[in-house]
Amino acid sequence: MNVLKFGGTSVSSIESLSNILNIIKNYQCRTNEPLLLVVSALKGVTDNLNTIFRLVSRKDEEYLKHLEEIKQYHSRFINDIFQGRESLISKNTFTSIEENLEKCLKELCFKEKVNKKDKDSILGFGEIFSAHIVTEFLKLNGHEFFFLDSKKLIVTNNNYGNAKINMSLTRKKVKDFFKKNTKNYVVTGYIGATEENIPTTLGRGGSDLTATILGSILESNTVIKWTDVNGILTADPRFISNTYSLKEITFNELINISKFGSNILIHPNALLKELFAKRIDILIKNTFDIEFPGTRIRNYSDHSDKVISINENSSIVLFEGNWMISKEIVKEILHQNFLIFRIKLNALDQKNKIY
Ligand code: ASP
Ligand code: MG
Repeated sequence: MNVLKFGGTSVSSIESLSNILNIIKNYQCRTNEPLLLVVSALKGVTDNLNTIFRLVSRKDEEYLKHLEEIKQYHSRFINDIFQGRESLISKNTFTSIEENLEKCLKELCFKEKVNKKDKDSILGFGEIFSAHIVTEFLKLNGHEFFFLDSKKLIVTNNNYGNAKINMSLTRKKVKDFFKKNTKNYVVTGYIGATEENIPTTLGRGGSDLTATILGSILESNTVIKWTDVNGILTADPRFISNTYSLKEITFNELINISKFGSNILIHPNALLKELFAKRIDILIKNTFDIEFPGTRIRNYSDHSDKVISINENSSIVLFEGNWMISKEIVKEILHQNFLIFRIKLNALDQKNKIY
C-alpha cells in the first residue's frame, strides 16, 4: 500500500488536481498496489472554521458570513473542477455535510459555554469536504477511489485540539480495515476519534501525522508528502544565496533544525521513530513540479550536503552526527546568543579533540 499525503495547496486548484491525476497514473502504470491519499482541507478552510468557532463561542451571528464564505468557496471550486459535469457527482453528499456543519454550529450557539471538544467537532469539517471533493474528482476522471473517514481508523485520547494517537488501538483498526478492504482510498487527514467515537483533531498541520501513522502501520514503501515547493532547502534563501534542495536528510538532523525554527515542510510530530525503524522513508515532493526528485528523509544518510539553519539569533551548521539536541540546550543557545562550534575531527586528530 502506498501512502501519499496532499497538503492544502495541493488540493485547492485545478492545476494541482490535474497533477494529482498524473501522479496517480504514474503509479498505476508501475504497480497495482492500492493507493491511500491523505488530504488536508482546502487552503484557508481550517482557519476559517477556527474563526467561525470563535464567533459562535461569543454567540456572534457574524459567523454566518464566514460559513457562507466556506460554502461558496467549495461550490465555486466544485464548479471549476467539474466544468459542467457537476450533475454527475453526488450533490447530496456535499449538501448533507453542509447541513451537518450548520446543525452543529446552531447547537453550539445555544450552548451556554463551548469547549475544546466542541471546537474539534467543527475544525475537522474541512478535511471531510476536501476528501469528498478529491474522491469525486478522481472518480469522474476514471480512477476508482473511495472516501474514507479517518475517524474510523485513528483512535486518540481526549486531549482535544492536540489529541495523542492510541497506537495499539489504531494499529488494530487500521490492520483490520485494510485486511478486508483493498481499494484505493482518499482519507481525511488531521482528524481522529476517541474510543467513545467523539471527534478529535491531531493539532494544526496534523494531516502529516495521519499519513505517517498509516504508512508505518501498513508498512508502505515510502510516505510521500506532496507540497508546493521542491523539498527542503540547504538554507533560508532570504539569508543565503545559492541555496538548493537537499537530496537527503536524516530524521534526527531534521528534528534538530526544526528546533531552531527552520521550516522543515513536515510536522515534527509526523517524524515517527517507528517509521524510520522500519526503514520507511518520507519523501517530500512538489505537486507543481512532479518530475523534481525532492528531498528524502531517512534514518541514515551518507550524503554530505547539510542544512544551515538560520534565525535572528543563531546559525546552525550540522556537519555530521546522528544525535538529538535537547530542547533545553536549544532554548539556552537561542536565549544566550551562544556561538558554538563543533568541529568534526578525523581519526588522526582524535587526541587533539577541541570542542
Ligand atoms: N487542515 C489542518 C490545518 O490546516 C490540518 C492540516 O492541514 O494538516 O491545520
Ligand atoms: Mg491545512
